[in-house]
Amino acid sequence: MTSPTVVWLRDDLRVDDNPALAAAAARGGAIVVLYLLDEASPESRPLGGASRWWLHGSLGALADAVAERGGRLTLRRGAAETVVPRLVGEAGAGAVYWNRRYGASREVDARLKQRLRDDDVEVRSFAANLLHEPWTVQTEQGAPYRVFTPFWRAAQERPVRALAPAPDSMHAVEVESDDLAEWTLLPTAPDWAGGLRETWTPGEAAARDSLDDFVADTLGDYHERDRPELTVTSRLSPRLRFGEVSPVQVWHRLNGELDDAGRRNAGKFLSELGWREFNTSILFSTPDLATRNYRSSFDAFEWADPDPAELDAWRHGRTGIPLVDAGMRELWHTGYMHNRVRMVTASFLVKNLLTDWRVGEQWFWDTLVDSDEANNAANWQWVAGSGADAAPFFRVFNPELQRTKFDPHGRYVRRWVPEYGTPEYPEPIVDLGETRRRALAAYERMRRTS
Ligand code: FAD
Repeated sequence: MTSPTVVWLRDDLRVDDNPALAAAAARGGAIVVLYLLDEASPESRPLGGASRWWLHGSLGALADAVAERGGRLTLRRGAAETVVPRLVGEAGAGAVYWNRRYGASREVDARLKQRLRDDDVEVRSFAANLLHEPWTVQTEQGAPYRVFTPFWRAAQERPVRALAPAPDSMHAVEVESDDLAEWTLLPTAPDWAGGLRETWTPGEAAARDSLDDFVADTLGDYHERDRPELTVTSRLSPRLRFGEVSPVQVWHRLNGELDDAGRRNAGKFLSELGWREFNTSILFSTPDLATRNYRSSFDAFEWADPDPAELDAWRHGRTGIPLVDAGMRELWHTGYMHNRVRMVTASFLVKNLLTDWRVGEQWFWDTLVDSDEANNAANWQWVAGSGADAAPFFRVFNPELQRTKFDPHGRYVRRWVPEYGTPEYPEPIVDLGETRRRALAAYERMRRTS
């Protein structure tokens, strides 16, 4: 008889196109489908509040999907290096499979792999959550790409893996599981998640519907993606973050049958997935991307000490700059912000308020439902100018010009800032021109010293 397999799920909360799960089913024997809340390993960055909310919903949906196939989702909490070997013992498992991750926590995986192998447990890791493994898309010299365009050109020349079938049925092993509710991932006192509940349904089935709807209804309008009042982007980011849908599923879908308008926009849309790949490959070579300037010349940058009142105004959408306030309120209410507005709000913090990008990165990490180790850090560094293939620091967004260009009818601003244009709306907390000049002067000083 084949011994049971432990399938340790992490950023891949789906049963379909899940290579580790499919391989466990092919191996035969019972399967322990494990999710481990690891807040104990030093390499695991604690999830932000909005992500915890999402995780709760996504795990609930996953438990149902696994149960429908005769399996059972096992929840455990603690450091992976302690919990996984213990569970292997309890279940009498002979194999542990997982899909790879690419940030600092892969150190945990490497140590665990060694430890399990020392105990004669079969360990296999799979490519699942990227189109291409980072080490397969490199320059001719074998180094990671630092510029997006050649990276994506090289990536597109490589084959994308086939989809992994969802197991039709599974046998569970009777092992103890934590109760999801006891993890207290949902906020209480106060319950600030009302806007998240209104906006999202986490889980694989809803993710599949989102992808279907996007391809059928909005891909054809994707060329209008910079307009925040239109819902023409896919809103798949939290789904990709938690792996409710894989980029490989998206890729196959976009390379399948599309109408003419969809086909015209498919390349542009896939190149956004390309940025996700690029950022993850940067994270793979720079695991401390969220805390360290990718370009070390920025270590000499003289950030201003954050003024608590200004920071508070930024966080809660009371800066008196309408597009910034609209974006920050959208974020607070829904856990999401439109990409164009993310760039504008981030630029305002980093340049007009001269605040270290890490302060903003942490706020987004806590409030975004899609907060992602690679994408959040890389995009903040992109805005700050300190990242790989970043926007140059001296390109300071003017949030008023951005508003007239991308929200020409004022619909987005009116939706989130209904008091704009009335006496209740505050004056701008800073002068845009003056703070722009201050930022450029600080940048010049950095350039002269580095
Ligand atoms: P679509 O336009 O439909 O794009 C499809 C997918 O491509 C997205 O779901 C996402 O996975 C990927 N993608 C799109 N744009 C980018 C990009 N600029 N960089 C990397 N991947 C991209 N994205 C995150 O997923 N997590 C984050 O934590 C995150 N933080 C950000 C912080 C800042 C300051 C900025 C400027 C951008 C950030 N982004 C982040 C990137 C981008 O804003 C979101 O991915 C996008 O808005 C998600 O909406 P969508 O799924 O409708 O995008």
